[in-house]
Amino acid sequence: MNMTQAINLSKSKILNQIQCPRRLWLEQYNPELEEPSLEMETVLDNEAYVADIAKRLFSSGQGIHINSRRGLRSAIDQTHAALAENGNNPIYDATFAFDGVQVQVDILDRSNPTPKAIEVKCADRIIDSFIDDCAIQAWTMQQLGMNDVSIAIAHAPRSAAFENATSFSDVFAETDVTPQVRQRATDVARIADKARAVLASLEQPLADVGDQCTGRYPCPFLDYCAANT
Ligand code: SF4
Repeated sequence: MNMTQAINLSKSKILNQIQCPRRLWLEQYNPELEEPSLEMETVLDNEAYVADIAKRLFSSGQGIHINSRRGLRSAIDQTHAALAENGNNPIYDATFAFDGVQVQVDILDRSNPTPKAIEVKCADRIIDSFIDDCAIQAWTMQQLGMNDVSIAIAHAPRSAAFENATSFSDVFAETDVTPQVRQRATDVARIADKARAVLASLEQPLADVGDQCTGRYPCPFLDYCAANT
C-alpha cells in the first residue's frame, strides 16, 4: 500500500479539494489560520436545521435513524443492519464508506423497489456543488454494489413555513438529479486520488485568491491567502 491509499476522506474533504486544494491542505495542516465566518456558520446552521425538519416530515418521521455518535464503524454497521431488514422504512443518515471515502445520506427512501437517496439543502435552487456532493455519495454507493439508487435533491429556503408544516412536499421542492450526478460520479475516484496526494504532501499547494474563495461556502482562509499570495 502506498502512503496516499491510507488516507481517509470525508465527503467535505473531497468537496474542499474540488473548491481549492490549498483549502484542503490548510484545513489539515494549519487549521489555526481559519477565520471563523458568521456567513458560513449561518449556512451550516440552516443546513442542519432544514435537514432535521426534512427527517421529521418525511414519512411522518417514521424510519430508522442511524446514530453516528458512536463513530463511523458503528454507523456503517447500523446501516448494514437496517438494509438487511429489507423493510421499506426510510433510513436517515445512512452511512457508507469505500476505499477511505465516507458519506452520509440524509434520507434513503425505500418506499419503491428502487431506493432513492435524497440530499436535503437549505436553498431556493440547485447549484453545482450540490451535484458534486451527491456525486460523492452516489460513487461510494456504486462501489458497494448499490448501482440502482436514484438521486434527488430536496431543497427549500429557511422560512417560517417550516414551523407549521405537516408534509414534506408542502415545503420541499424535490428534483431528480440522477443523470447529472451519475455523470459527475465518474470523476470522483480521480478527485479523491488528487485529494490524497495533496494531503500526503508537506508542501502547501499554491492557489491565488479568486472566485473559488467565495460563494455559498466561503473559504475561512481568505485573509491568510490574501496576505500570502
Ligand atoms: S482563500 Fe481561496 S485560495 Fe485560499 S485556500 Fe481558500 S479557496 Fe483557496
